[in-house]
Amino acid sequence: MITRKAAEALDRADPLRSKRDLFVIPDNTIYLDGNSLGPLPRHVAKRLADAVSAEWGQSLIRGWNAHGWFDLPRTVGDRIGKLIGARPGTVIAADSTSINLVKVLTAALRLKPGRRVILSDNGNFPSDLYVAQGIIKALRGGWELRTVAPEAVECEIDDNLAVLMLTEVDYRTGRKHDMKRLIAKAHRAGALAIWDLSHSAGAFPVDLEDGDADFAVGCGYKYLNGGPGAPAFVYVRPELQDRVEPSLAGWMGHAAPFAFDPDYRPAPGIDRLRAGTPGVLSMIALDSALDVWQGVDMQAVRDKSVRLAELFISEIEGRCRDPGLHLASPRDANERGSQVSFHCAHGYAVMQALIAHGVIGDFRAPDIIRFGLTPLYIGFADIWDAAHMLERVLVDRLWDRADFKTKAPVT
Ligand SMILES: *Cc1c(COP(=O)(O)O)cnc(C)c1O
Repeated sequence: MITRKAAEALDRADPLRSKRDLFVIPDNTIYLDGNSLGPLPRHVAKRLADAVSAEWGQSLIRGWNAHGWFDLPRTVGDRIGKLIGARPGTVIAADSTSINLVKVLTAALRLKPGRRVILSDNGNFPSDLYVAQGIIKALRGGWELRTVAPEAVECEIDDNLAVLMLTEVDYRTGRKHDMKRLIAKAHRAGALAIWDLSHSAGAFPVDLEDGDADFAVGCGYKYLNGGPGAPAFVYVRPELQDRVEPSLAGWMGHAAPFAFDPDYRPAPGIDRLRAGTPGVLSMIALDSALDVWQGVDMQAVRDKSVRLAELFISEIEGRCRDPGLHLASPRDANERGSQVSFHCAHGYAVMQALIAHGVIGDFRAPDIIRFGLTPLYIGFADIWDAAHMLERVLVDRLWDRADFKTKAPVT
């Protein structure tokens, strides 16, 4: 445990400190939910307003060529690629994470005829599991989705495996898989690997190329701050791109969209992962939001994230002697993403009370209170204050109110 003065000193010495001013953080708010919805980068509001009034308003249909709207999936994809160790031409921004997963999972299954197992873990994000279940039902190819405990994934990889489909960081606990090692094992077994990077991209250094990943997907609205419902991204390794047969074969992924050919011919390369018309305004918001990464060393982001997490855990464990509160995240920073979670009795009400007092995290059923650590705009004093507010909420039972126990649709 440290004093608040010591936390303030850590902030003064923080090389990422100036980045905070790039974001709109409402007064009296400590925002520990950037892993769910990143905040608004200040300059995006004007960029978006200009896109609406000047680009859409004045250029009208000409905007597709004049303002590069048509190429946005590629240009934004390449910018995201820099954050995840993917070379230009291997990533596009498009659709949602769930939809991109449909694209790559169907593509991967087609590349592994004769193999029938999709392996995932039971901590995976439900939408990812639903997508696999839906594909299995729709295509009736006799596939099986096998979900095992995260620690058991490695020994379940065998020669029956078609696709290893995992999320690198568990959305509830923050537990982080060893991506490179699992990919190597999947490849030795002759399988393909798909990674969901929703809680990785923008959270810490990712190197898809070094890790030898085949496919990856991830969110644009979490650590990438692209705004509610921002486009997601999808990566396909260069050697596989021209072997992918798109199942969501739309005109924007056609080799010649404006030939209006009645027969589908996939575009060369990553463009075949496009389906329909991109949401241009959302794409512009995400593109503009990515400016905050200019000059940022992802290793510095990781280092600060680890230090924030260590401080948060030690302050909370040192001060909140509540028997209903236990660390749900791995204690070893190497096994954690950029969030800290606790099992917490009355967790939903506790989180509502925290939010009412300006500390915004979120709740994940059945009993997890979750805090995203986003080093570009969170400091050590924030973490100190948040830990102290949690202590107050628990010790003074500030959560014990009927209105904090009534669940809203989004938790
Ligand atoms: C947030 C999240 C998603 C969300 O998918 P959408 O299709 O964008 O709603 C998918 N997978 C993981 C692992 C997530 O954390």
